[in-house]
Amino acid sequence: MSASETLKPVHGTPGTAGAVRLVLLGSGELGREVAIEAMRLGCEVVAVDRYDGAPAMQVAHRSHTIAMTDPDALRELLRAERARPCARLLVVPEIEAIATPVLEELEAEGLHVVPTARAARLTMDREGIRRLAAEELGLPTSPYRFCTTAEELRDAVAALGTGDGSGPFVPCVVKPVMSSSGKGQSVVRAPEDADASWAYAQESGRTGPSAVICEGFVAFDYEITLLTVRHAGGTAFCAPIGHTQEDGDYRESWQPQPMTDAAAARAEEIARRVTDGLGGHGLFGVELFVRGDEVLFSEVSPRPHDTGMVTMASQASSEFALHVRAILGLPVPTDAAGRVPLLAPAASAVILGDCDLDAPSYTGLAEALAVDPSVDVRLFGKPDARPGRRLGVALARGGDVDAARALAREAAGAVGVVG
Ligand code: AMP
Repeated sequence: MSASETLKPVHGTPGTAGAVRLVLLGSGELGREVAIEAMRLGCEVVAVDRYDGAPAMQVAHRSHTIAMTDPDALRELLRAERARPCARLLVVPEIEAIATPVLEELEAEGLHVVPTARAARLTMDREGIRRLAAEELGLPTSPYRFCTTAEELRDAVAALGTGDGSGPFVPCVVKPVMSSSGKGQSVVRAPEDADASWAYAQESGRTGPSAVICEGFVAFDYEITLLTVRHAGGTAFCAPIGHTQEDGDYRESWQPQPMTDAAAARAEEIARRVTDGLGGHGLFGVELFVRGDEVLFSEVSPRPHDTGMVTMASQASSEFALHVRAILGLPVPTDAAGRVPLLAPAASAVILGDCDLDAPSYTGLAEALAVDPSVDVRLFGKPDARPGRRLGVALARGGDVDAARALAREAAGAVGVVG
């Protein structure tokens, strides 16, 4: 065997010193799909979350239950995983709420964090990524201010909400800097609403009292997620994903979202610049607002995106498979233009809880799957239901996205959640 052959990456048997081990920080439905794709390629998967029985834990080789926001607990866990023999260890953050300084500290000691510890830090709160995108990279965004008191928010609403002072009041969107999925988010429709928005953000932020971002409301025509893969061979784009949001959380997504050539080119340029700015290998979900040919950057996840679940129906390699391939240094399937091929237009529609339930059960699975031969359902197996909690998703393909959306909605509607 030549020296170069001995240096080729190997995938040894899980649980042995030859294993390629992924430690998933976050074990929800997106982590579960990453775990499955990694296991299909022979990796060892360790799932971590703050509660027992999280979706990815149900399929992983091993799991740990810790508060990943606790620096000491996270450091101890990662050191213990590093001490167990394996050929390669990759730490794969699947959520934002992680003690990211610990990731930076351990990365400096040689730990491989996906895509990088800096990317995890910059995207864990809205301030890091907004300042990188708007102030360092000069990408177009909504006008914004960060506020740490109710008074600062009142000033921001006065400044952003009235534009140059001559026109009618422009609504503002207020979000805790440490939040996701619409938690603590509200729209200020009149200057006197600012205090109520401040109070709401303080009650509902991820880590208790927190600073907020106040953004000018963007009257976009549509919003997209542009899945962007940084891999060993370069950068690849998936077809744009359109989606609808309610209360800041996604309800339906479809692919491809029709766009003008100019808007599509602009979207890819913004996505390339922000993902290059974050660096590393992996899949990113770049969230963009589109108005005519104008494209504004909103946010980016350095990991698979919830609206990207549609790729389990629309692409031969889902966003989860692409993420795993990219982080392992494996080739990503692309066409001649460097884009990930689409199999067919497809859609996803979420299945939500509507009340508090322990150990929920599901009805209507047969009816959902009978809606159309292209329909597929994923139930996440979450140990409890809450109003608005995502418990599953229905997927469908169609001749066009409208047909696919109708099928996915009908299938999701057929599934019931019961005690
Ligand atoms: P985010 O958590 O920032 O992704 O926001 C959730 C959703 O709220 C977005 O997908 C948009 O639908 C909406 N949204 C957020 N910011 C704005 C804004 N500045 N203008 C209009 N809608 C927004």
